[in-house]
Amino acid sequence: MLQQTQVKTVIPYFLRFMAEFPDVHALAEAPVDKVLHHWTGLGYYARARNLHKAAQIICQDFNGQFPDTQAALETLPGIGRSTAGAILSIALGKKAAILDGNVKRVLARYHAVQGWSGNAAVLKQLWALAEKHTPEQRNGDYTQAIMDLGATLCRRSKPDCAACPLNADCRALALGITDQLPTPKPRKSLPVKTVSLAIVRNSAGEIWLQQRPPTGIWGGLWSLPEIDDPGLPFILPKHQPDEILAVLKHSFSHYHLHITPQVYQLKNPENCVMEATNGLWYNIGQPQQAIGLAAPIKKLLQQLHIHSIHPSGDSGATDES
Ligand code: SF4
Repeated sequence: MLQQTQVKTVIPYFLRFMAEFPDVHALAEAPVDKVLHHWTGLGYYARARNLHKAAQIICQDFNGQFPDTQAALETLPGIGRSTAGAILSIALGKKAAILDGNVKRVLARYHAVQGWSGNAAVLKQLWALAEKHTPEQRNGDYTQAIMDLGATLCRRSKPDCAACPLNADCRALALGITDQLPTPKPRKSLPVKTVSLAIVRNSAGEIWLQQRPPTGIWGGLWSLPEIDDPGLPFILPKHQPDEILAVLKHSFSHYHLHITPQVYQLKNPENCVMEATNGLWYNIGQPQQAIGLAAPIKKLLQQLHIHSIHPSGDSGATDES
């Protein structure tokens, strides 16, 4: 119950659970629905199903006796190497190492271990350290202490190093990198999509903007049209822009968008726009109306405006945001 859940939340559940299922036989014989009913509100229901199944295996395969070796414990559903170590150490008073999330954090900081613990080599290094620190005497006390240290002082954010009994030898503290360890899971690399947007200028220097459809990226906002947009009220000479600007990079939560802005100078576009209902000519120096612009488009337009005022400057628009 205490995996992923705080003690104060667990206490009433534990008391009710133990009253209903006072021993392993009572738990094994109960219908799983009844076990789940007593778990309702605790979340992570796989824990309840695993506990129930483990009780049945203990009754069937271990004659109702709780296994007392690392290997046997690890055959039970829901019990991995660290949980088996914690049971051996705390419940059975045997020497065994643990490496739960709290212990990983303490060891990664104390030894300044770099790298994400999901990486096999880093995990191996952490297990080796966990084994090395595991004492012969009072193993259960040590196990409880290092878990509590991680839960109370060596917290994920803002560890209380001043109060920590390990602060004299802690490598992360000495190096000033406690906030960088443990190394977080690397972010998944996002796919890159590309699009070419048209910066269409009329003879007055205004730029053609179109309102995006209500759904999809930048829904309902005003943006530069895509080169191949069939809704454009004028035909752009394909592959013949007057200028191609530097790629503008913009990140969404699920992908990176690389925008290539292409400049087209139209000679007599006014005749072409009578039919356009979702577009307007935009004066970037003196916008006549307040419109919602997509953030990277707004930045690009500002850079174009600066460039039109200071044409000798860098004409490329870039954005790493
Ligand atoms: S000194 Fe700070 S970072 Fe190091 S183990 Fe203690 S609480 Fe964690």
